[in-house]
Amino acid sequence: MKEVIVVGAGISGLATAFEIREKAKAAGEKAAVTVLEKGSRPGGKMHTELIGGYVCEWGPNGYLDSKVHATEFCERAGLRKELVPASNVVNRRFLFAKGKMRELPDSPPKFFLSGLLSLPGRIRVAFEPLIRPARRGVDESVTEFATRRMGREALEMLLDPFVAGVFAGNPDTLSLKSCFPRIHEMEQTYGSLVKALFALRKKRKAEKKKAKTEGKSVAGATAPRGHLTSLRRGMGQLTDWLAKGLGSSLVLDDVNLTLDNHEVVCLIGASGSGKSTLLRCINDLVPFDAGVVRLDGISIHDPQLERSELYKRIGIVFQAMYDLKYLYHWQNCRQFLPSHLM
Ligand SMILES: Cc1cc2nc3c(=O)[nH]c(=O)nc-3n(C[C@H](O)[C@H](O)[C@H](O)COP(=O)(O)OP(=O)(O)OC[C@H]3O[C@@H](n4cnc5c(N)ncnc54)[C@H](O)[C@@H]3O)c2cc1C
Repeated sequence: MKEVIVVGAGISGLATAFEIREKAKAAGEKAAVTVLEKGSRPGGKMHTELIGGYVCEWGPNGYLDSKVHATEFCERAGLRKELVPASNVVNRRFLFAKGKMRELPDSPPKFFLSGLLSLPGRIRVAFEPLIRPARRGVDESVTEFATRRMGREALEMLLDPFVAGVFAGNPDTLSLKSCFPRIHEMEQTYGSLVKALFALRKKRKAEKKKAKTEGKSVAGATAPRGHLTSLRRGMGQLTDWLAKGLGSSLVLDDVNLTLDNHEVVCLIGASGSGKSTLLRCINDLVPFDAGVVRLDGISIHDPQLERSELYKRIGIVFQAMYDLKYLYHWQNCRQFLPSHLM
């Protein structure tokens, strides 16, 4: 038996632990995988809260479906039906700059006509195709890369908000090669980002034309750009599923329980046998892999059944000061109480 320790239960650690177990299983070997996490909940930056029926993300709000392995991974997790593509409305991006909301231009001519950057700032960007690419093997920070190619103003106005949106990080300390490998590759392949944009646009047009003549879907031809995709209950659904799979035993299996009005039922069982998990499943607080919970014949996942109605009809009394340990007390309470009482 191989013993493996993974440090950190963010998406990287959880996915690594999952793959090690899967690979060991496929090879007919046994692997004892332990994930060590210093925080109070799994998921790391990937963390979703359901507040008043809304899916609220603390970290990533999706991934691009051009990263096919991410979709494959969700499918392996049985979450295919839960995948939700973002509305096309999100293709229009706005930036609050110089006192007002400004739409981000989607083509170089529109960029040069927009007032996003000062005239000297735009002229500096216009020189981008003339700047030599970095030497191969050099690992620049996002700041070093952007100021070298497009100047300080473009970094602060365009790149910084973009980097904050994706990593909520500091561009001075993020490696371009690690965080934006495609941008690094574009510079290395085409010598400049502007040249790369024109070349890729030409390539995409040709692919679209070819796809049309071959009767293939045009969407396929533009696929490398990707579409923002998430899960119905947020990205945390994936880390929750991975974390749940770390336990070695099946918690609830073949459980059938019908409760009549005013009936009192006692659940008795050893610690870890799934008593609290069953209550949480009934309250729709943790996702379950199979089966259905019905309230008056309607599945609790049926969109007809309002969340407030569910929580009005099925209450839960915490056995400790909390129900879900990683939430504060008020967050635990907020899950059940109608918003006007909070
Ligand atoms: C606000 C925000 C928005 C984002 N938006 C997107 C997005 O839309 N799309 C996208 O693709 N990416 C996005 N990202 C980036 C994405 O969230 C991260 O790249 C990803 O979640 C990192 O996962 P990770 O497992 O590598 O690291 P983390 O999520 O940071 O996990 C590391 C884990 O290790 C634990 N740990 C650290 N040190 C130790 C130790 N010594 N012992 C034990 N445990 C330890 C930590 O507590 C943590 O739980 C966003 C990030 C943020 C913050």
